[in-house]
Amino acid sequence: MAEIGNKGLHFLAGGGEMGELIRSIDWSETPLGDAEKWPPSLKQTVSMMLTTTFPVLVCWGANYIQLYNDAFRPINGISKHPQALGGPAKETYAEIWETIGPMFQNVMNGEALGFPDFMVPMDRNGFVENCYFNFSYSPIRDESGKVNGVLVICVETTDKIHAIEQFQTLSEELAAANEEYAVTNEELAAVNEELAASIDELTITQNNLQRSEKLFKSIALNIPKSLIIMIDRNHRFIAVEGDLMEKLGYDSRDYTGKHPTEVAPPERYEATKHLYDRVLSGEKFSAERQAATGENFMVHFVPLKNYKDEVEAGLMIALDITDIKQAEERSAKLAAIVETSDDAIISKTMDSVITSWNASAERMFGFKAEEIIGKTIYELIPPDRQDEEPEIISRLKSGERVQHFETKRMTKDKRLLDVSVTISPIKDKHGEIIGVSKIVRDITERKLEEQRKNDFVAMVSHELKTPLTTINSYVQLLLAKAKDDNEAFRINALTRTHVQAKKMTSMIEDFLSVARLEEGKVPLYNAPFNFHKLAEETTADLQFLTSKHNIQLIDCKDVEVNADRDKIGQVLNNLLSNAIKYSPDGGTITVSCEKKGGKATISVTDQGVGIRPEDQVRLFERFYRANNEKLQMVSGFGIGLYLVSEILRFHNSKIELKSEENVGSTFYFTLDIHDGQ
Ligand code: ADP
Repeated sequence: MAEIGNKGLHFLAGGGEMGELIRSIDWSETPLGDAEKWPPSLKQTVSMMLTTTFPVLVCWGANYIQLYNDAFRPINGISKHPQALGGPAKETYAEIWETIGPMFQNVMNGEALGFPDFMVPMDRNGFVENCYFNFSYSPIRDESGKVNGVLVICVETTDKIHAIEQFQTLSEELAAANEEYAVTNEELAAVNEELAASIDELTITQNNLQRSEKLFKSIALNIPKSLIIMIDRNHRFIAVEGDLMEKLGYDSRDYTGKHPTEVAPPERYEATKHLYDRVLSGEKFSAERQAATGENFMVHFVPLKNYKDEVEAGLMIALDITDIKQAEERSAKLAAIVETSDDAIISKTMDSVITSWNASAERMFGFKAEEIIGKTIYELIPPDRQDEEPEIISRLKSGERVQHFETKRMTKDKRLLDVSVTISPIKDKHGEIIGVSKIVRDITERKLEEQRKNDFVAMVSHELKTPLTTINSYVQLLLAKAKDDNEAFRINALTRTHVQAKKMTSMIEDFLSVARLEEGKVPLYNAPFNFHKLAEETTADLQFLTSKHNIQLIDCKDVEVNADRDKIGQVLNNLLSNAIKYSPDGGTITVSCEKKGGKATISVTDQGVGIRPEDQVRLFERFYRANNEKLQMVSGFGIGLYLVSEILRFHNSKIELKSEENVGSTFYFTLDIHDGQ
């Protein structure tokens, strides 16, 4: 070892381990030569180097022979130290010489350089890593001003940069998570997992923990309904941030540096201590917790490690998952409803591919979920109805909900079922239709029941019609005779009998028509006829029923229409008898015609009780009768208007209505005018 005192090596005093190492070297065998004979500028620089706490490297001469201190030593890692000492910089830093070589040259030319957070890829621990330094290179001059070496003072900022980079990534991920959070709860759950996984990789050192506080604040601000807590190895708080602070029992005081027992009752600490221990022992885990106020939280515990792979701190991120929980519960309830429903509930994409299939669908159609999911709904549609599907889809696309639409569907074994289908669009969060949900009810039994009832009604009506026709003929005969004999009482009695028998006839006619309609057997015998004449005949018949009402015909005289005369007679008969029935106080009933563009609009107006708006929309349903106290004595079956609307539908026309309560109603429809007109 060099003798400091004797050999004039005072300038090598101090400097800890590196001082000792430098003194132990016989410099006379190195390119720097005997230390005693080093130029004063080198001696002075080395002396300063050994006494400063900043990392300093001295590179001397044309080969940049290196001397460095204790603080600089870790920068050289295990692969560069100790051979760097006394060796040329070009060899030590071969991998970055391309970068730093020219800089050294510039310094030798008298220039001083400095860069903050400068990245150099260094191989100092057996592998190449990106290292960052705040460094300054300055020339070492002798008394004559000549530059003989380079003084490198640097502070490694690798840890800081890494931490910032990692926190930035984290922050971005958290911001992204935040966005997702606002979008859907489900997605949030997924993001949470990703988030927890990504911060698992996070490493951190004591130095930059403080720095990270700011980042935490901004991260916490970016995630609504969150709380971020960071603790050090002694369970002391490094940061507590987030808008859930109060909800989770932290008031808004500054916690930095405090131990939990200093800011909250010890029981509270006792309750969480084991979780802190777990995270600080390196375990990454999540736990669900519930606040006293009922909210649910998911807390992610993440150990933060330093470069030596030691846990330096524990990070806890609490997120409010109340919405997720509620959504989960709702969807579980919904799933239970779907599974236990007696109706088949099926969902499909807009391309008609089946995506879900409940137990009732399996029972109804015979396909198991695994057989049918992924196939198209066309499997269930009978061949003659395949064009229904594109029509339904296009109606849905226009935003319509298709309700109670009756049709036939086919089972796996090709049996046909009568079904009632309700179809609703499934929309995504932006309101775009992404699929369709179908509720299918098997109404085969109901249809059979209806059929049996129809058959019965048809049979009874038919059986009643024949004797009634005979009664009608005899009454007419007797009436004619009574008129001949001028017998007032008999004329009166027989007229009444005649009217009632006619009323019965038209009722039976209506029942028969409904039965035929149900079977789809409605032959139309269209032919031109004079509407005025038909209206006159109908009016004459009905005028017998009432003395309170005055029925008038307006502008129908020369209206020739092309339609089924009997059926339009039935329409008019129904509308006029309703007009009489539903204007119990009497008044004028008007049948009027208006010709326009090849069509005649025919309307029947009364001054009766009128119809409430809520009834107006349902009047044309079979068996529907408005519930009006005033009309409790008025009898009827609720089939008249159904028949009217069906007959007009077969004529490609439509019954329409304008009505005001206690003012009156107008029913109107159009018919084709005969071409010859
Ligand atoms: P019904 O007269 O046998 O009840 P309809 O099908 O002919 O059956 O009529 C259905 C319902 O519509 C009636 O019960 C009645 O409430 C209402 N309605 C029909 N026509 C009129 C009218 N002109 N004025 C007021 N209400 C009417």
